[in-house]
Amino acid sequence: MQSITILGATGSIGVSTLDVVARHPDRYRVHALTAHSKVEELAEHCERFQPEVAVVGTADAAQRLEAQLKAKGVRTEVAHGEQALCAVASAAECTTVMAAIVGAAGLQPTLAAARAGKKVLLANKEALVMSGSIFMDAIADSGATLLPIDSEHNAIFQCLPLNYGRMPADHGIRKILLTASGGPFLNRDIASLADVTPEQAVAHPNWSMGRKISVDSATMMNKGLEVIEAHWLFGAPSTQIEVVIHPQSVIHSMVSYADGSVLAQLGNPDMRTPIAHALAYPERIESGVAPLDFSRIANLEFRPPDYERFPCLKLAFDALETGGTAPAVLNAANEIAVEAFLDRRIGFRKIPELIAEVLDRLPALPADGLDRLLEQDRAARDCARELMAG
Ligand code: NAD
Ligand code: MG
Repeated sequence: MQSITILGATGSIGVSTLDVVARHPDRYRVHALTAHSKVEELAEHCERFQPEVAVVGTADAAQRLEAQLKAKGVRTEVAHGEQALCAVASAAECTTVMAAIVGAAGLQPTLAAARAGKKVLLANKEALVMSGSIFMDAIADSGATLLPIDSEHNAIFQCLPLNYGRMPADHGIRKILLTASGGPFLNRDIASLADVTPEQAVAHPNWSMGRKISVDSATMMNKGLEVIEAHWLFGAPSTQIEVVIHPQSVIHSMVSYADGSVLAQLGNPDMRTPIAHALAYPERIESGVAPLDFSRIANLEFRPPDYERFPCLKLAFDALETGGTAPAVLNAANEIAVEAFLDRRIGFRKIPELIAEVLDRLPALPADGLDRLLEQDRAARDCARELMAG
């Protein structure tokens, strides 16, 4: 029986995880659920899944959650704050951690799970983009198991030689082909991109996701972060990672081999597939996702990405090449820019401009420790805010 902590249980990935967990009460029970501010939703999940602990962001939210749980007669213990998140991610009672907080806020609890040797199901790509080798070292040192939830990385994991989570040099792997839908603005006139609204940006054609990742998909920063994620997860240099635009999102990614073989993983665009894969790995379980109906797939298209339309993708490749603290700065500046765009304080085309400016102003330093990365994360956020103010 796996005992699961879900970090970010009220989010899009969190809810999909609970959906899969609920289908297999014989395999999984819930140790802890966390949410930032959606107290009512969390209380409902607690009533249904009866976790031992629930964690929220603030003391005020904790009080409200306690009152709601009491009224429902639920005996879940309530805690709040980052330390409590780290505690439920590393608790002895828990075997498996779904890391599904959005953004840098998920770094410390996800790292805590890695250090504690848990089975870590990683959706929170920003945590890995920020901390890179520190995170991978923590996994290796503790003997933790790391399984990718991001659909592309989960697909790549499935297409790599059996039992190799990483790319072994002697297995003839030519390239990782990371597919991308291109988001809602793939075919829009580039000149009109300056005027798109947050509502248009979050309306993804194929996937239903949280707001931040939806904007990242529209700018293709999401794919940029995924390139960096693939670099760390699979030990692949940037030259061995290629982005392919595939608007139908049926192929979730591919691995190309020296002999000309290309292996792909296909499926309907529903995150319950990678979630079920990682939860049950190496077994296979029902996820609730319908099988692909090939009679309804008219065509599968592919094309190369266009950096003029998607400058964020280029910024991310460059940050990976630069290395050190550059990916953490890129990620932090992006989080601030996306938030500002969603609040209608800056236009869509300002997102890459702002990130590029922050990267210019904060030259990369060696990533020599977590403190350095957190300091550069803060510096990048301050710099982005100052640039917007001035
Ligand atoms: P979401 O916005 O729907 O949910 C985010 C969750 O994180 C919520 O439970 C929220 O309470 C919690 N959270 C937010 N800020 C927090 C903070 N400061 N402290 C603690 N908790 C906080 O996001 P999502 O779409 O579920 O994405 C979650 C992560 O998974 C992201 O890193 C995203 O890139 C990744 N991911 C998502 C999808 C998808 O289909 N949604 C696919 C691949 C990867
Ligand atoms: Mg993805």
